[in-house]
Amino acid sequence: MSKRDYYEVLGVARDASESAIKGAYRKKALKYHPDRNPGDAAAEEHFKEASEAYEVLSDPEKKAAYDRYGHAGIEGNFGRGGFQWSDFTHAGDFQDIFGDIFESFFGGRRSRGGAVKPKGRDLKIKVALTLEEIATGAKKNIALTRLQRCKSCDGTGAASGTGRKACSTCGGQGQVQQMARTLFGPSMTVVTCPACEGEGHIVANPCPECRGEGRERGQTTLTVHIPAGVQEGNYIPLRGQGEVGPRGGAAGDCLVFITEKEHDYFTRDGDHVIYQLPLGFAQAALGAEVEVPTLSGKALLKVPAGTQSGRVFRMGGRGIPDVNGRGVGDQLVEVVLWTPEGLSRRERELFAELAELEKVRVAKEGESFFAKVCKAFGS
Ligand SMILES: [Zn+2]
Ligand SMILES: [Zn+2]
Repeated sequence: MSKRDYYEVLGVARDASESAIKGAYRKKALKYHPDRNPGDAAAEEHFKEASEAYEVLSDPEKKAAYDRYGHAGIEGNFGRGGFQWSDFTHAGDFQDIFGDIFESFFGGRRSRGGAVKPKGRDLKIKVALTLEEIATGAKKNIALTRLQRCKSCDGTGAASGTGRKACSTCGGQGQVQQMARTLFGPSMTVVTCPACEGEGHIVANPCPECRGEGRERGQTTLTVHIPAGVQEGNYIPLRGQGEVGPRGGAAGDCLVFITEKEHDYFTRDGDHVIYQLPLGFAQAALGAEVEVPTLSGKALLKVPAGTQSGRVFRMGGRGIPDVNGRGVGDQLVEVVLWTPEGLSRRERELFAELAELEKVRVAKEGESFFAKVCKAFGS
């Protein structure tokens, strides 16, 4: 089943502001709320669909990936079964809407006070691509070192056969009250428990391999599929491929940033590529069929007689595909007249003869000849 466009789901324009997106989601959530539509499975589906759309469009990184690559850009965000309620991170922002159904949707994910598991770090890596790879899209294997689940304790941090015990500092709540000095005098605030880092429990007997961290440095190779048409600064998010959190905490993401390798003879201008073609006087004057390189191999270009230096020929469809699948750029071939040096005797004779003929032509055509030359060189 093909997925609906997220903007369409929320009924907002693609350039809608953050607050407009939030407002649109609130409206949909209220309309399809299960309490207002008891037993209506379609309404609940709408509620979930809108929540998924909001989850993506409210996050600048996910939104950017979705804007560029559509649903494919955020595929890795959710598990195998697609978006689940446990992926929804905004329930707290809409407490008035979610309040009482929180438990049933989120399966008691936060039922034990404020205890949470710290998430692992995101990783940022760079991958350099040639223009040829950018034109076709590429599959790259990237070797990297990251913190991974400790194999000895399977990420629990506990030595084999031992378990965890409730944190005595916070009584398993993951949070403690603390007196803080504020401008208005001392005040009680709730902070993450320093003893268990918010987890609510601690490892009784730490695993000797990871010293109770539940993770260890290790090497891995990730495969990233890069669509055609990307450019410097774009990135592909690999969800859950960053570093794992301590003691079984969720993994961060790995963001693969694109860099462009400099090309020997092409320069890029958006989806177009520019090539400078050196042409001899005789070829330019008489016309010629020349071989030019393109991103997909060699091609023949017909240069008509009387071609001036600086003239640009357009080879349609020989550029880079648009990253959103809207057409393909062109190759622009700019003629650069090549002036011979170190002339042989014979060449010198021929050029001298040509020079004589030019004199005659100037005498005959006078002003108009210079006007033509000036026009050709744009001065
Ligand atoms: Zn371990
Ligand atoms: Zn604690």
